[in-house]
Amino acid sequence: MKPAHYVNGVFSTSGAAFPLRSPVDGNQMGVVPEATRETVDEAVNAAGAALAGAWGRTDVGERCALLRRIADGVEARFEEFVDAEVADTGKPRELAATVDIPRAIGNFRAYADLAYGRPERAYPTTVPGWSGSGQALNYTVRRPLGVVAVISPWNLPLLLLTWKVAPALAAGNAVVAKPSEETPSTATLLAEVIDAAGLPPGAFNLVHGHGANAAGEYLTSHPGVDAIAFTGASATGAAIMRNAADHVTPVSFELGGKNPALVFADADLAEAVEGTARSTFTHSGQICLCTERVYVQRPVYEEFVQALAERARAQRDYGPMISAEHRDKVLSYYRLAREEGATVVAGGGVPRFGDERDGGFYVEPTVLTGLPESARTVREEIFGPVCHVAPFDEEDEAVRLANDSPYGLAATVWTTDLSRAHRVAPRVEAGIVWVNCWNLRDLRTPFGGVKASGIGREGGEYSLDFFSEPVNVCVKI
Ligand code: NAD
Repeated sequence: MKPAHYVNGVFSTSGAAFPLRSPVDGNQMGVVPEATRETVDEAVNAAGAALAGAWGRTDVGERCALLRRIADGVEARFEEFVDAEVADTGKPRELAATVDIPRAIGNFRAYADLAYGRPERAYPTTVPGWSGSGQALNYTVRRPLGVVAVISPWNLPLLLLTWKVAPALAAGNAVVAKPSEETPSTATLLAEVIDAAGLPPGAFNLVHGHGANAAGEYLTSHPGVDAIAFTGASATGAAIMRNAADHVTPVSFELGGKNPALVFADADLAEAVEGTARSTFTHSGQICLCTERVYVQRPVYEEFVQALAERARAQRDYGPMISAEHRDKVLSYYRLAREEGATVVAGGGVPRFGDERDGGFYVEPTVLTGLPESARTVREEIFGPVCHVAPFDEEDEAVRLANDSPYGLAATVWTTDLSRAHRVAPRVEAGIVWVNCWNLRDLRTPFGGVKASGIGREGGEYSLDFFSEPVNVCVKI
């Protein structure tokens, strides 16, 4: 499978090509075409034309039927999608086969159901003293925003791309998507499936390339783009927002995190250790929801640290960092942690496997302790398989520590005290709080972050709200 642009219903590999490297062994797997400004222009224009044509005349029932056909199309090529996601990211096959690709299929089915079942609102209005009946009917319909730019990251490439593309199409928008330059393959397969499903040309377009001063920036600063849905780093979000400001383009942002876990002494400790190991080390920590700060109540602190370190050392069959650059970034934090005075309880280096993976971009699952809250290692997002564990004494202190962060995406609370769970969860400054679990998802629920972790919410009706504009019609009776 060769990564290709898909613009106005046509596949092409125009533009200069850049290499695609395997994170598993560092070898070049292929090349990716870099979209020029002209290609991005063409895609935005094609999207606009689709809205003015057949796509703009579809009703929600037709669009939802198309979404279901896309879901079926991905399912029919399931193994190909899994292979492509594993090749691009190096993630364990099981993860791609149980999370990434099934969730991508689920995204199309969920938004087909949600969009089709969504009622519109009506407000019968009485205005005493008006001429005639003194009555009116207000009803509110939702109109698509228009041409939507979707920019997605490399960590869950197809899952996060479809998480935006599905509701955007369901709501009647035309899409120009740009996946991460690191992971172009499943997006290209998706374009093939969408093409086969019979979407009118231009309703969905795909361009490949880099972000800054390249395809990503051309797209997000394009005057023909009516809205931007972005998932990625907070600094990138800020750069996109600056460009979006020129045209007052609405944005939906899912950004970085430095997610805390609060472990109370009354928690089921085995469960808390297991859950924290999962939330720290899954996909080698390269999920925005992963835990990087753990606060443990003092009576169980030592036991917890040792048990988590044990779990870190026992990690097998884990994937690499996405790129040499990202591996170097994570390792620079391992070094910084030592300079800042951390105790490295487990990991802290580069594993040796004695096979081709030694040429890949692996780092060890790592547990740190002993840093002050002001340490950069405790404040900045690392996006690797690493957490810092610190003790606390009181419930209020735990909440204060959790909230002492520029980020606010997700948090986990481990306790068997029901009242405490309900007391603490709403006080944590985060968009998502899990109690005695992690990453348990219901696609209808709001998903997103506060502070530097994002703007707006995705999921269920929240996505459909972002991707459409309410229009109120008032009819005098
Ligand atoms: P990134 O911000 O470097 O890149 C994301 C996308 O933005 C890529 O497609 C990239 O090409 C594009 N891009 C980069 N600069 C751009 C610019 N100036 N203009 C337009 N587009 C640009 O992020 P990444 O390294 O791919 O992903 C990791 C980051 O994403 C982490 O910070 C992580 O927390 C975050 N993330 C957040 C969520 C969430 O739901 N909140 C989910 C996954 C990842």
